[in-house]
Amino acid sequence: MSNFKAQISNKLLHAIIIVLAFGFCHLTFLYAQNRLDVVILDAGHGGKDPGTIGDFTGVQEKNIVLPITMKLGKLIEDRFPEIKIIYPRTTDEFIDLKVRTKIANENKGKLFVSIHANHKKKEESDKKGFEVYLLNRERMPEAVSYTINENSQLIFQQFGNDTLDHFIFASLAQNGYTRFNEYFASLIEVNMLSLTDLESRGVYQAGNWVTLGASMPSVLVETGYLSDANDEKYLSSEKGQNDISIALFNAFQQYKLLYEMQ
Ligand SMILES: [Zn+2]
Repeated sequence: MSNFKAQISNKLLHAIIIVLAFGFCHLTFLYAQNRLDVVILDAGHGGKDPGTIGDFTGVQEKNIVLPITMKLGKLIEDRFPEIKIIYPRTTDEFIDLKVRTKIANENKGKLFVSIHANHKKKEESDKKGFEVYLLNRERMPEAVSYTINENSQLIFQQFGNDTLDHFIFASLAQNGYTRFNEYFASLIEVNMLSLTDLESRGVYQAGNWVTLGASMPSVLVETGYLSDANDEKYLSSEKGQNDISIALFNAFQQYKLLYEMQ
């Protein structure tokens, strides 16, 4: 009799544990904060702003970054149909920089990926390969100088004298996400190295104009140098654009997994 009772209470205990465990999982699922459910895919430049121009074929940056962005979006859409993808531009149109981050914030983006291509400065020796940029408050002086140098044509027109304020505001807003930024950037580097023909020039902390005001983890990828013959050829090719979009997708997929486990 006492054995039977013990057996019953054991069964009851198991049942209670199972119910509690199920309930806990269910609640955890319901209240999970970190769902990577909205992604902003930002193709740089567009319309009257061609971005940088290739030295060898005259290809324009805006026409390279758009197909890479759209291919990346298609890969995400196919694998994760539940994710909302926001594209500030899907055609050759000029989108104000403020509008890009406004779109990102209004749609409550959880991740902002901006895709660009680079060009060496006149006085610089040859450069090639990709770079990944993220924001970090500790590196503010360099970041401001990068912002102003790289985007001198548009920056003042877009942000006027408020540039520094915007930058500081964005840095503060981003501060809590530094770890996520860094993690995503390093995943991009690893995947780009293994899946593309491009060399890595490293991950940098910088306040690019395009991340100003976006209050979410934001990464900017300079996919290669249009002042380098090989990079220009690769970035202009279907294969190069496919390779890059697959590398970025892999990084995204790995990042999503970790982000949602937090
Ligand atoms: Zn650019």
